[in-house]
Amino acid sequence: MALRLTSVQLRLLRDESRKIHPIEACALLFGRRIDGEFVVTRVVIMPNVLESCIRFEADPQMVFNAFEQADQDELQFIGLFHSHPAPASPSEVDLKYMRLWGEAVWLILSSNDGNIAAFQLTDNDLHEVALKVEAI
Ligand SMILES: [Zn+2]
Repeated sequence: MALRLTSVQLRLLRDESRKIHPIEACALLFGRRIDGEFVVTRVVIMPNVLESCIRFEADPQMVFNAFEQADQDELQFIGLFHSHPAPASPSEVDLKYMRLWGEAVWLILSSNDGNIAAFQLTDNDLHEVALKVEAI
């Protein structure tokens, strides 16, 4: 399993994280599953309504709108992005929410060291998802 992003999408996520630091940034990732890979074709930045440096939460109406739009455009929900001031791996709180979000891929950027990694929780088993960044 791999998560495919473009360098432009990655730059957008890094820029957003830097811009609102130390508040945690978040975004929704949409696209398609192709040959067992998650291919991101749309990144929707979500304001962190908590304005928190240690938690993130998106506005439910904005989340709903993003899902509606993706549905109209026949895009699938792939996962969530967020930045946090810890290593690029899920925190205890993240794990709790990962269980609620099913098999969504969680892309996490560490605001400490700039590392970025993706994870998925399937059948209570946490595993890293390979990141493939296409330079464009
Ligand atoms: Zn986190």
